[in-house]
Amino acid sequence: MPQTSLKVLFVASEMFPLIKTGGLADVVGALPRALNAAGAKVTVFLPGFPKVLRGLETSRTLARLTDVGGRKAALIKGRTASGIDVIALDAPHLFNIDGNPYLDDSGNDRAGNDIRYAEFSRIAARLASGDIGRVKYDILHAHDWQAGLAPAYLKAAGSPVKSVLTVHNLAFQGLFPKETFNGLGLPDDFYGPDGLEYWNKVSFLKAAIAYCDHITTVSPSYALEIQSDAGGMGFGGMLRAKGAALSGILNGIDLDVWNPETDPDIPANFGAEDLAGKVKCKAALQTSLGLTVDPRAPLFCVVSRLTTQKGLDLLADMTDYIALTGGQLALLGSGDSAIEDAFLAAAKKHPTQIAVTIGYNEPLAHRLQAGSDAIFIPSRFEPCGLTQLCAMRYGCVPVVGRTGGLNDTVIDANPMALQDGVATGIQFYPIDGHNLYAAIKRAFDAYAEQETWNRIVDNCLAQDVGWDASAQKYMQLYQGLAD
Ligand code: ADP
Repeated sequence: MPQTSLKVLFVASEMFPLIKTGGLADVVGALPRALNAAGAKVTVFLPGFPKVLRGLETSRTLARLTDVGGRKAALIKGRTASGIDVIALDAPHLFNIDGNPYLDDSGNDRAGNDIRYAEFSRIAARLASGDIGRVKYDILHAHDWQAGLAPAYLKAAGSPVKSVLTVHNLAFQGLFPKETFNGLGLPDDFYGPDGLEYWNKVSFLKAAIAYCDHITTVSPSYALEIQSDAGGMGFGGMLRAKGAALSGILNGIDLDVWNPETDPDIPANFGAEDLAGKVKCKAALQTSLGLTVDPRAPLFCVVSRLTTQKGLDLLADMTDYIALTGGQLALLGSGDSAIEDAFLAAAKKHPTQIAVTIGYNEPLAHRLQAGSDAIFIPSRFEPCGLTQLCAMRYGCVPVVGRTGGLNDTVIDANPMALQDGVATGIQFYPIDGHNLYAAIKRAFDAYAEQETWNRIVDNCLAQDVGWDASAQKYMQLYQGLAD
């Protein structure tokens, strides 16, 4: 079949398990395998962060480069433990970063992000075109603003390689002072309202929106939302004008990484057929977090960046209500200090009912999903969201704001959905404190009716949250562009 020869270069700044700050890494770590299984040949191009270079199972030098940001660099070809081909741009003067790849310790944008990700994108375009290395790719698939200049460099070079941009979160736009443009080596007419210019600045994301051949975003609802003035974050008009060249393809999760039947990070394994292990996971979680060990106390969790996007400031106002109603809350995350402080204060006030872990902890994220009855995702906007997919796979019921991918993946437990046996969670809208309160109350009420709750849990466990269906959609898209 013709698809077997389709060569795709993913260009992304994160890839699980090598380096991760959020859902982007999960997608880049899992989707290539599903695409390879569907007949593509995907290589992932990554910045050569120390964690990336150290994490590759095999590696060899593919090419030496003389001028990357004014210094020498190399392309390292390797493979991940899960068998995905990777090429890393080994340029220590740009990527010798051990912490967050975008933000410094004070939470500000790292100095040099413009040159760092511009050079990354420029080399990606040359690699895709076959100027470096011996392979010419059919498709360059750029992810988010860090890869945003790659489609612009392809167009500027007149390359026949087609490019796709996936917008994982339109809020991250790669904005830099307009002077940045002078150092990019792009034609002068690329700076303008139809190109990189954005309100007298340069936007790397806008570069990709302007010059790629197709834009996807990570859920159909978010694809509609970003075309509105309210959801478009300044790009609404430009995205509307893309017409059929903009579509939404739902994210999935890696069913091997998130598998309650085999997960080594949880105290007892379980599956849809036998939930005894989940009961043990709940008791173990309550014990380890210092919560009252009570199988009938509804245990809610949060695994998230602690930001206003995620609506967690709203949830912070509900902690007394949750505790006083007999519920428990186990939170893992980090982010805005005001939100962190609010949850820490709540945990101090209700130590046997609220437990807060500030930080990033992959195994704990698994234990929270496995041991909790429900997860809160009260996001004000959510391009797709992955935690609700992980939650459903672990029989943990999502309580979500009705927006973006949360709208597309969670079916509200209204009477009709319950009767039809399709309810998988609780949605609320508009997304504000009042409606979050009502949603929490609905969750308490549903949990109290054990049979109803068990049916919702069963429906969650029956959901297909993997990548196969969406990988087929990406394949159709690639094929249509490459023909
Ligand atoms: P976003 O990319 O906007 O942060 P997603 O829901 O798309 O949100 O993806 C978040 C990913 O990061 C999920 O895999 C989630 O489990 C993980 N995650 C978020 N915060 C933490 C944390 N503090 N510790 C461990 N994993 C986390």
